[in-house]
Formats: sequence, structure tokens, C-alpha cells
Amino acid sequence: MSKLQDTMFQDIRNKNIFEQSQQYAFQYLESIFDRNVYPTEEAINDLSNFDETLPKETSKAENVLKQLNQYGSPATTATLGGRYFGFVCGSVVPVGLAAKSLSTFWDQAPALNVLSPIGSKLEAVVEKWFIDIFNLPKNTAAGFVSGTSAANLCGLAAARYRILKKNNWNVNEKGLRNAPKIRVVTGKQAHSTVLKAIGILGLGKENIEWVEVDKQGRIITEAIPELDKNTILILQAGNVNSGAFDNFEVICEKAKKADAWIHIDGAFGLWAAAVASLKHLTKGIEKANSWAVDGHKTLNTPYDSGILLCADKEAIRSALHMTGSYIIESAERDGMFFTPEMSRRARIIELWAIMRYLGKNGIDEMILTMHERAKQFATEISQVPGFYVENEIVFNQVIVRCDSDSITESVLSNIQELRECWLGGSVWFGKKVMRVSVCSWATTQDDISKSVKSFKTALAL
Ligand SMILES: *Cc1c(COP(=O)(O)O)cnc(C)c1O
Repeated sequence: MSKLQDTMFQDIRNKNIFEQSQQYAFQYLESIFDRNVYPTEEAINDLSNFDETLPKETSKAENVLKQLNQYGSPATTATLGGRYFGFVCGSVVPVGLAAKSLSTFWDQAPALNVLSPIGSKLEAVVEKWFIDIFNLPKNTAAGFVSGTSAANLCGLAAARYRILKKNNWNVNEKGLRNAPKIRVVTGKQAHSTVLKAIGILGLGKENIEWVEVDKQGRIITEAIPELDKNTILILQAGNVNSGAFDNFEVICEKAKKADAWIHIDGAFGLWAAAVASLKHLTKGIEKANSWAVDGHKTLNTPYDSGILLCADKEAIRSALHMTGSYIIESAERDGMFFTPEMSRRARIIELWAIMRYLGKNGIDEMILTMHERAKQFATEISQVPGFYVENEIVFNQVIVRCDSDSITESVLSNIQELRECWLGGSVWFGKKVMRVSVCSWATTQDDISKSVKSFKTALAL
């Protein structure tokens, strides 16, 4: 046995480094709900500690962990807590943290059933749960990918495959040169990852037929052009600024009649379908062909969890297919046929654990609470002179502005510097705005009031 092997076996045997990392993790958990939401300047400066060349000699494992904890932990953003409202982030349901930490030791890759029977089993189970909770067509296939960026890419790849196949054109073999034209129709508020996927897939952003949107960012139904069987129509469940939903009931009916492929980007908003009192927002989504949704936003799974759902199993499998002399296909689920990657970590484990733990009622309650906190925020901030809420609070997003762009900008920067909460800015119909996304299970009424207070302080500075 080499000396290096020996020390690594010792690391396993005496468990010290695992206890050490667990201790750090527990310390982190204890402080994160009260800590400054954004790292201090000092913590960020201290990151220079990592500026070192790759060492020549092997270190002690405990020293590596020590360095990571000492300089890494204070430089994290407190997305786990209740006052991080930036982007659309989401905390983590505690059982998900625990399940992830257990599965870290398993280190499974559910590319094939033979590679990870447990990973493959949980993917098959959760696929059925999604069909149930979102009320999707029975044969819908799920691909467990890194996020909605990847899920949008996969859904649109399936659409591309299917539309060309209907035109007797196998895109995998023949490519796009001289291929029949695919039309792409989407709203002017489509998320940038949708545009990125259109670019990657060679559909060409210049070919997009843009549809006008209303004041909330929803596609204006009457403005949709005539659709046909060569069209991909991309809709949105949850506008990244306003949280608004396209009118699926009317639009999907129309698109279905025209035999267009409907893809829904529902990164955080598709979860409204799992909430009894918000379900009306997603009425009609079951008529679509593919859906993209995140675990790591509204559902509060750890990062790196997106799901592509596709009613056309053959299209998604064909779009992402690969073979090799060593690939052993099984009668059970082989996850790699539904994702762009071959090897990927078994992110399904945390997703399964959180859904299994919350159950339908827990999911409903958790997400409805986010909605209620968003409404609370809108109500409280509207009562503060100098702040204006710019959107209807249909889900979890609140758009706030001040009297002018420059005041909005400086107030936002003051809020960020106060570090009592954190949020980012955006532009909404030409005006600078602040974007509040309530998507943590941990956000309490008190967190909202504290944050509103911070807004007030920031305006007075
Ligand atoms: C966050 C988001 C995406 C991208 O999802 P990732 O998980 O970050 O890849 C796409 N669309 C919408 C509407 C989003 O909110």
C-alpha cells in the first residue's frame, strides 16, 4: 500500500474529518438564520486566502477543511435563511440537507440502472409523482437535470426532433442544414435561458416571432400569430420579475388545435399547480408537450435540481439518445436517456426525500405560505411613502420602485449594504426596479417586517 493510500484509509477509518465537517455544518446552521444575509466586506477580502498556487505536497485533510470553513463559510450568501430575496433562490427543506449529506457518501450516478439501482428507482418513482401532482399525461417522461436552463434546452431539443421527424427529417443524422424550417413563437418576456437554448439548438434567435405582452408580462392571447404543426410555442408559468402566468387555458387549446409543440418554462411557477388555491394559475398546462421546472427554487431542494417533463417520450429519448458498446440498457429506468449528460450525481435523492417528507399537503402549505409572505411584503411596503409596488402579487414575486430610477438604484444599494436582507434589481417596462422573490420555507412574518424596516432605513440614508 502506498503512503498516500494509507493516510486516506486512515481518514476513512478514524472519521475525524467527517466529524469535523459535520461540526462546521452544524455551527453554520445555527447562525445562518440570524447572520448578515450578504457576506461582510472583510469576509470577501479574506477570500484572497484561496489565491495560492497548487501545492506541491499533499496536505492534511483536516487543514483543508479548516481553511474551507474559516474563509469559505463567512463568504456565503445566506440563501438558506428567510431574508434572501435575490433572484429566485429558495432555501432547503431540512430533510433534503440530511438526505444529501447521506447520499454524498453513496456517491451514486444514475446514468444507468446497473450504475445505481437506488438512483434509478427513485427517478422512476418521482417521475410518477410529478405526473400526479401536476396532473400531466400518463406517459410523461422526466429527465432530472441541473436546472431549468438544461430542462428548457432538453424540452426544445425534443420539440426540434419531433417537428423535423414529422417532416421526414431526422435531425440527429442530417443536422439543420437544408432542414425544413421550424417556427419559434414566444412572448417578449421569455426568460433569457429560453433564448440561450434557442441559440444552442440552432433555431436562431432572429427567427423568433415575438408576441406582445401585457403590463404583468403575460402574453397577449390575441397577439399570437397563426400557429401550425411546424411551430414551437414557448409559454411561461411565473415571470421572473412579476411572477405572472400566461393564459394557458386559452392559449394551449388554440395551439393544440394547430398541432404546434407547446413548451412551458415553469422554473418556479409550475409549482402553483400543486397548491389548491393557486391552481387556477396553471389551468390548461396539461395540454402542453413539455415542461421545465426547478426543484431548487420553489420546492426548496438543494441546488442542481431541474426537471424536464415531456409527454412525448420517444421524442425526448431520441433527441438525447446515445449508444456505446459498453452501455448496458436495462428493463428498468436508465436515466441518461432523458438528460444531456451521461454521468451526473444522483440529485434525485434529495428531491425524493423532500417530496416524500412534505407530501401533497406540505407542498401546498409551504408554497402558499411563500405567496402569503409576498402579499404581506407588498402590503407593508405600499404603506411606506416613497415605495410603489408595480405588479399584481399572483405568486411569490414583488416588484418595487421608488420615485425615480436614481433613487431606486441608491436605495437598492443601501439595502444591500445593510445586509439585513438581500435582493437584486431589474428593469420593468423601462423603469429600474427592485425584485423581491419570496421563495424560502424559512421566511416568517417577522422576516418580512424586518426587511420592510430595512427598506425604510435605506430610503432615509
Ligand atoms: C430561474 C429560471 C430559469 C433558469 O433556471 P436555472 O435553474 O437557473 O437554470 C429559467 N426560467 C425562469 C422563468 C426562471 O425563473
